[in-house]
Amino acid sequence: MPASYDVVVIGAGTGGYVAAIRASQLGKKVAVVEKQKALGGTCLIWGCIPTKALLEHAHAFKIVQNSDEWGIALPYGAPAIEMRQVHARKDKIVTGLTKGIEFLFKKNKIDWIKGTARLAGKGRVEVVDGEKQTLEAAEIVIATGSSPRGVPGIEIDHKRIITSDEAIHLPEVPKSLVILGSGAVGVEFASIFRRFGSEVTIIELLPRLVPIEDEAVSAELEKAFKKQGIRSLTGTKVTKASVSGAGVGIEAQGPDGKTQKLDADILLVATGRAPVTTGLGAEALGIAMEKGYIKVDSLYRTSVPHVSAIGDVIAIDGRVHPQLAHVSSAEGIVVAERLAGKDARPLNYDHVPSCTYCDPEIGSVGLTEAAARKQGYEVRIGSFPFGVLGRAKMAGETEGFVKIVADKKYDEVLGIHMIGPRSTELVAEAVLALRLECTVEELMRTIHAHPTFSEAIGEASHAAHGAAIHM
Ligand SMILES: Cc1cc2nc3c(=O)[nH]c(=O)nc-3n(C[C@H](O)[C@H](O)[C@H](O)COP(=O)(O)OP(=O)(O)OC[C@H]3O[C@@H](n4cnc5c(N)ncnc54)[C@H](O)[C@@H]3O)c2cc1C
Repeated sequence: MPASYDVVVIGAGTGGYVAAIRASQLGKKVAVVEKQKALGGTCLIWGCIPTKALLEHAHAFKIVQNSDEWGIALPYGAPAIEMRQVHARKDKIVTGLTKGIEFLFKKNKIDWIKGTARLAGKGRVEVVDGEKQTLEAAEIVIATGSSPRGVPGIEIDHKRIITSDEAIHLPEVPKSLVILGSGAVGVEFASIFRRFGSEVTIIELLPRLVPIEDEAVSAELEKAFKKQGIRSLTGTKVTKASVSGAGVGIEAQGPDGKTQKLDADILLVATGRAPVTTGLGAEALGIAMEKGYIKVDSLYRTSVPHVSAIGDVIAIDGRVHPQLAHVSSAEGIVVAERLAGKDARPLNYDHVPSCTYCDPEIGSVGLTEAAARKQGYEVRIGSFPFGVLGRAKMAGETEGFVKIVADKKYDEVLGIHMIGPRSTELVAEAVLALRLECTVEELMRTIHAHPTFSEAIGEASHAAHGAAIHM
């Protein structure tokens, strides 16, 4: 007799494991099929957690490198980064968190079935390796996530031409690193390895770094990177890259049409992630797809009844779906609540915080200035630099600003964009402001504690009304 469940989730990333826990909390009998040796998916094993752990090391190293300013004596000479210990600490954090999910599965009586799942007809999931078996499921949730996407013509050998999966484990700091792509992943690794001592060049096809962010944020990041010695080649296309001897030979065509040659120890391809559906049997079951992604409606129903999908693997309403851990988790909760018969409501994708943990950090939500103007708003802008704040001076982190984009007519906040210290934390206030359809006036009258970085948000809202106090 096949084991029978109310809900079978395929994939235990931040989408799948959260959906499983919420469904179980709501009384469902749940199993999760996961093919990796640990739970947590991309975020915990290859993504958010290991990269942010490395960034914390880079931050600690930065403080020690400026030891004179901080009054820290280094009796044994100049500090150096010790990669073995860096990886040991990072891996310990990853293991602690993945084990934490195992504990939560036990606590919530969720069965983890180890193996690779395949859709095997109506209400059936076959586990084709590992703990081989066929499961019966009243509801199936596909949460198979994504994997690094390559670039046509560039062969990833995983040694010299690598993806983020290898970059998190590099045993040594490369002397030179070229990064293809300046999205979140690209600029985060640029910050990590520049701080660790690599010569870093970022190549971006579009005319600016972090192209989804507000233009002012991109310009500030490029300025900060230049100061740190990170070279940015924007509007530039890599036309050739091949492993040669102990390194990689790269040819890139700049905005002037001229080709330049670069050599690097390592080329990191950070050009996005593709959905994981190979071998899943989605098409065979009749699930509608869009460019390899599983098509879903606003409550994550696929075209096949009783099969839902969430996370990096989906395309929703024909719009760009943010491949972010917090988005997949929010979707996991919505899908579980719908399956449990609760009043599940669609998420508002205009209110998704975007965080990039490079140095300086970026946090943003809502419309950029250009997008607001394009949508026909008469725009009001308020900006405030972190450098003026006492708290920023104490931390020695004075780069960047907070920029508020608002609608002049109703004073509604449309977007908040920050680059600078703790921006990935400060963005939480911005998200709430947008969710509550806050006006600039309300943000101005909100008392921000002193001395904190959050004062920059208060001051930026004052600035939008021409009333900044400290500027
Ligand atoms: C370097 C890097 C840094 C990132 N940093 C951040 C960040 O700071 N913040 C943020 O929000 N997002 C970040 N992300 C993105 C984030 O990791 C993903 O958006 C998130 O993990 C998506 O979750 P998911 O559940 O949809 O899929 P995944 O996390 O990819 O999980 C899918 C799971 O399904 C399993 N699976 C796939 N197919 C099968 C099958 N047939 N049978 C069984 N199991 C299967 C996989 O093994 C995997 O464990 C980062 C990504 C990368 C690569």
